[in-house]
Amino acid sequence: MSFAADILTLYPQMFPASLGMSIAGRALERGDWSLATHHIRDFAIDKHKTVDDSPAGGGPGMVLKPDVLGRAIDSLAVDGVVDDRPRLLMSPRGKPLNQAMVREFAAGSGVVIVCGRFEGVDERVITARNLQEVSIGDYVLSGGEPAAIILLDAIVRLLPGVMGSDLSELDESFENGLLEHPQYTKPRVWEGLEIPPVLLSGNHGAVEKWRHEQAKKVTKTKRPDLFEKYES
Ligand code: SAM
Repeated sequence: MSFAADILTLYPQMFPASLGMSIAGRALERGDWSLATHHIRDFAIDKHKTVDDSPAGGGPGMVLKPDVLGRAIDSLAVDGVVDDRPRLLMSPRGKPLNQAMVREFAAGSGVVIVCGRFEGVDERVITARNLQEVSIGDYVLSGGEPAAIILLDAIVRLLPGVMGSDLSELDESFENGLLEHPQYTKPRVWEGLEIPPVLLSGNHGAVEKWRHEQAKKVTKTKRPDLFEKYES
């Protein structure tokens, strides 16, 4: 069974965007994963198709209505049965996304992703529908759609058969607690700068050792926080 992603959004036209191209797009075409978008406005039942209202207690902006979003989420149940995929709400308040979380999502059967807009989502629907809040970083976007695209891009490349080489994935940043070592390709000399000779030595052991040392050095310089964790 392929990985199934359902997106609830007020902007279905923002998908598949980059997910329809390159690695993710080819995997989508092959059926390694599926993507379905659901327009939240279709679940508004008044004649103006209202999806938002002013914040209780006052303040700027609007809030996504719980009744409309609740109906949209419930529409994904088949014969009244809700599947066991995690239901995520993209949110700056959420748990910061990391590679371990991506790996866990990729190991499951899929995800349901709610994209917020306006000032956010009524708290009651977050609780009542057990939405797990996920943040892509400590900054505020105008909507959850770009965040959902980032999350799915990171997940899809880890799905079985999607990446050309499973080995390259193991060597990547964050996979072993370190950032990736520097990479080089031909020409051997470019603007007077040489590829480190060890990489051209044909000695796999020496290459691995060099890469590991470089990964430690890069991590220590660029992300001392990660390096501290790695060392402990
Ligand atoms: N008023 C909210 C706050 O201060 O936390 C920000 C709402 S933001 C303008 C609208 C929507 O964009 C959010 O509901 C969420 O879905 C999405 N969003 C914004 N920043 C995000 C982030 N860093 N990670 C994930 N989603 C984000």
